[in-house]
Amino acid sequence: MAGVLWLLGYAVIVVAAALGLAALPGRVTAEIGTLIVDLPTSLAVLALVLLALLLHFLFGLVRLPRRFGRQGIHRRRRQGDAAVTSCLVALAASEPGIARRQAARARKWLGDTPQTLLLAAEAGRLAGREDEATTALRALAAKPEAAFLGLRGLLRQAIARQEWPEATELARQAEAANPGATWLRDERARLAIRSTDWPEAMRLTAAPAAKASLAVAASQTEPDADRALTLARKAFEADPGLAPAAIAYAGQMRRIGREGRAQTVLAESWAIRPHPDVSAFALAGAASPMDGIPLARTLAAANPTDPESFLLLARASLDAGLTGEARRHAVLARDAGVNSRRLFLLLAAIEEAEDPNSDAARGYLREAATADPDPVWRCTECRAESVEWHPACPSCHTPGSLAWGNATALTLAKPGIMRRLLPWR
Ligand SMILES: [Zn+2]
Repeated sequence: MAGVLWLLGYAVIVVAAALGLAALPGRVTAEIGTLIVDLPTSLAVLALVLLALLLHFLFGLVRLPRRFGRQGIHRRRRQGDAAVTSCLVALAASEPGIARRQAARARKWLGDTPQTLLLAAEAGRLAGREDEATTALRALAAKPEAAFLGLRGLLRQAIARQEWPEATELARQAEAANPGATWLRDERARLAIRSTDWPEAMRLTAAPAAKASLAVAASQTEPDADRALTLARKAFEADPGLAPAAIAYAGQMRRIGREGRAQTVLAESWAIRPHPDVSAFALAGAASPMDGIPLARTLAAANPTDPESFLLLARASLDAGLTGEARRHAVLARDAGVNSRRLFLLLAAIEEAEDPNSDAARGYLREAATADPDPVWRCTECRAESVEWHPACPSCHTPGSLAWGNATALTLAKPGIMRRLLPWR
């Protein structure tokens, strides 16, 4: 529309100039040597203009029109650059009103370039005008040379709105626009975790601990039995000490009738990081509580000095009615430093099994009330606690970040914490 108006304007000027030229009165006479030229004024003016144009095109002798054009371009560029700088300063100073005004000026002088569109989007975002930012980002995404920038902005907006299918689609488009970008890979992995697409998250994650946890989750949701077994094996191989990985793989072995292999897998895991869920899963393979005793002993033999092994033998003995053995192992656990609630509940249960009105049982129950809290799953990144294990922290969504243990052990296990606590080390 603007182009048509400009054309009409030019046409009016040309017609007016032609009419004005035709109406010029008088004549022009020139004497060059012996040559005398006598022309009407209108024709003389027209001849001079034609001569100037001829000289300009043939020899570049007349440069005025082009110079005027260049000056215009330079002026626009200067104004535009100044607006870009002012907008950047306003963005850095968090002044949304100025940023938006200067972004609009930059677009007026320089047009919709990737830079001015990006500034407009950032200014809109800073001002809380998400619709404005979206419009600028969409225009940016439509430019082949800057599509990634636009898609990246739109992707962040979709993530902020927690619209996971849209975010996943935008991430796919951004990957096509700029394949292999590290930032995008991390973002896609996060998106896959948020939308519980475990196989995709596993494919995009490199850290072994995260891979093990994601493989467990992928195995649990995999409908194909063979693929579920392969994923469980991968999880166990990536981190044999991760209880859910060992249980997933042992479960697959038990499913195909390889109980011996299942018990070996659980014992290997117990040797690295014993967890009550591993022993519970191992003893679930026993036909009776008495049959569980040899299984518990085999498991405990894999890590004989760990307090978890004493607790395991105490629990298995109690289940089998061997209260004397149960008490002996529970006391060994307490001597090994266990002071948590579950130990005193176990001691109370042992006393109650022998005498339902036992004073000792009541004493242990009172001690349980003030004992240390039981170990939990805790995120090594954000420290959020969880009673159940999750492939990714429910709070900060970091994959494979949950570690089981008491607060002190986990805090010290966090990377770099010793350096911060003991700076001279
Ligand atoms: Zn966390």
